[in-house]
Parts: sequence; C-alpha cells; structure tokens
Amino acid sequence: MLTTGATRGNGVIGEVVTANLRTIPDVPLALQGSGWPALLEVRGEVYFPKQAFEKLNAKRAKAGEPLFANPRNAAAGALRQLDSRITRERGLRFWAFSAETPRGTIAVKSQQDLLETLASWGFPVEPHRRRVSGLGEAQTEIAKLEKLLDELPFGADGVVVKVDPMRLHEELGTIGDREPRWAIARKFAPEVAVTKLLAIRINVGRTGALNPYAVLEPVEIGGVTVSQATLHNADLIQAKDIREGDVVEVTRAGEVIPQVLGPVRDQPRGKKKFEMPERCPACGTKAVRPADEVMTYCPNVSCPGRVLESIVHFASRGAMDVRGLGYERVQKLLDAKLIATVADLYRLTPDQLLDGCYSASASATSATARRSCSPAGSARCRSCARRPSLRSAPCAASAPRSPRRCTSSSPTRATRNWWTTSRRTASRWPSRRAPPRRARSRAARSS
Ligand SMILES: [Zn+2]
Repeated sequence: MLTTGATRGNGVIGEVVTANLRTIPDVPLALQGSGWPALLEVRGEVYFPKQAFEKLNAKRAKAGEPLFANPRNAAAGALRQLDSRITRERGLRFWAFSAETPRGTIAVKSQQDLLETLASWGFPVEPHRRRVSGLGEAQTEIAKLEKLLDELPFGADGVVVKVDPMRLHEELGTIGDREPRWAIARKFAPEVAVTKLLAIRINVGRTGALNPYAVLEPVEIGGVTVSQATLHNADLIQAKDIREGDVVEVTRAGEVIPQVLGPVRDQPRGKKKFEMPERCPACGTKAVRPADEVMTYCPNVSCPGRVLESIVHFASRGAMDVRGLGYERVQKLLDAKLIATVADLYRLTPDQLLDGCYSASASATSATARRSCSPAGSARCRSCARRPSLRSAPCAASAPRSPRRCTSSSPTRATRNWWTTSRRTASRWPSRRAPPRRARSRAARSS
C-alpha cells in the first residue's frame, strides 16, 4: 500500500505530499504482481502533460487569473497544494525510474530489469528507453530522441544514460553523495531565443566584482520566461560588441542560467558601445581593475552591494543553509539596520522576526526599531491572535513571503521543512532570548 509520498526537497528534507500524490491516477495505491519487498521506496518524476498545461492556462486566462510560466513549476506547485482536490483537477502524471529498499536496492541484476519490474508492479515507466551496447550507440539513440521532442506529450530537456549492470554501480560509486558515476544526464541542445536588450546593468558581487547583466524584453526559453541574463564581464561584452538596444540571442546555459550569446547582426544595432563604469554603482567608490584580471572590483569592504551579497551567500544552501533568508529578507533587515554583518544574524531575536516590524521601520536605527516593536513575547498571530511559540513556525501574516503557518494548530499545518529548521534554530538561541514554551504560556495566562 502507498503509505507516504514526499518531494525530493534539498535531498535531505522534502515535503510530505501523500494526499496529493494519491490523486494522480498513474501512482498505484497498492502494488500489483508479486516479489516486492516488505518496504519499498519508488522514485520518479511527476510531470504536467503539455495538453493539460495548455488547458489549465486557457482556463486561467478565461477567468482573468495570471498564467503559469512553465509546466515544471506548475507541476511542483500543484503537488504542494494544501487542497488535494486542486491537485486532482490539474491532471498530473507520473513516471517511475528507480527504487530502493532499506537494505540496499531490490533484487534485480540490471537497470533494464528494474524498470520492467516496476512496470510489473503497476508503475508507469517511460516507454522510450533503450538498452545499447556502447557510447556510440547511445549517442545515436539520443539524437533520435531529440528529434522526438516535439511529438512527446511532455517537456524534456535531456536523457539520462545509465550503466545497465547493477553490480557495477557500487564499484563506480558516487561523487559527494549526489552524482553517481553510473548515471549521467545528457542534455539536449539548449533552445535559443531572440529578444531586445533593454539595458546593461551592474551587480556588485560579494567579492566586490562588478558583474554586468542584461535586462531583456521578457522572452520564453524552454518554458521559462527570461527577463535578465548574465553578460559575464566587460571584455566579453566588448569582444561580442553587445550594446543596449541590440536585438540579441539568448539561451539558458545548462538549461538554467540565462546568458546572452550575442547581437543578431542583420538587425538594427544599439548606438553606444558598452563601457564599464568608473565608479561602483552601489557605493560610488572608484572601481579598480587588477592588471591580470578580466573583472573590475569595488574595493570598499563596506559597500552595501558587497554586504548584501555576502550575507545572502552566508545563508545560502551551500554555506549555513538558513532557510527563508534570501535577498529580499536580508535587504529588509539591512534597511531596518537590524543587521550590518553576518554576526548580527545571531543577535536577532525571534520577536524581531515574528513581528515583521523590521519591514515597517526601514529607516529606524536598531534600538528604535526594537522599541517600536511590541515588547518581547507579545507578538500574536494576526490570523488567530494566539501567541506564537518558539518551538513552532511563525504565522503566515507575520512572516513575509513565507508560506509557513501559525504556531497553534489553527489555520493550517506547518510544513516539515520549516518545522525542522525552526526547531533547530530555536534550540540555538540562548535561553534568555528564547524563554521555553511553558514559561511563556504561564506569562500569557497571568496577563
Ligand atoms: Zn561599492
């Protein structure tokens, strides 16, 4: 029987989506056939068929609702709906591609066997799989599959080539727990789109590097709307002679980061050649370019652009992995002068964050910002008026852009993601800043 459905998340923590997964007709609620282990984890891909996606967007257009940009994000959104009836209506589908048991993999000799076994247990398996004898034959098959793209009922950006015999998988091993040497994604040639380059702007990186990027007339590439693209560095812009106002070719490198390939020559050109600004656009300090480097730098270590980028980098997944601390929230905290360096993140109190007051006191100093907020422990949920507990998530209303919930069992459930993070974070706060839940509820009763 299907007991738990979960998203992959960051590879360690995902979200439980059992109820929604049950609404996908492709996912068997009970296994067919025989020979399955007592406990089995089946991995696969939930996708939005092209036709269902177009139908959904047509319906949304009719109702005057904003359209979904691409099937991939729409599928992810549909799977994480709180109301599984909405998920059912979307018409999601599923392909299975792998299975694990708590004691290693299931008893099959090859990848081909595994897929056939999954199919015999009632899982849909993508039919365009082929077993080939070498890399040459694999390349030929990939070229054939690439031609099929337009006919497929779903979007695809490449194929995965896997070593067939299972006994070789362990021998080949995995790089850094993430990239198995026996499975390699072979991406199809990226789609190229033509659009107008509206402006060339500069972003200040955390090292002070001045990174030029293009502001584009929004264009769809591979189902994603692109309005900005990297331009790498000034030398490259000058070598390709990319100018503001040019009609340019844009692609998504590795299907992810949009980049400008160059101007379309037979189209009208922009008038002014690009030149790197002499001063940092964020702080006005004179920019420097070391003799042997292609990048130009802002040498000011307190440059607001550098500070923002360094704090966001510190909180990013590859570093401290602080969830929910992205550009927007770091900028708000900086504007409210609640933080100036990464060290200040550890001095923030839960109430400063729960109140959401940092967004309202943008020009206040740290002390006045704290004074203008409600006193410690008084923050209440704006939807249910209960006091949030440090042990669970803050209310949706007080945490801007966060889909997290009120602490009480009231409006909705807290997601597993946030629950784990908030528990971990709460335990790190010193006790005088984070009174335990019981002390807090007593205070609440006496008031
Ligand atoms: Zn600067």
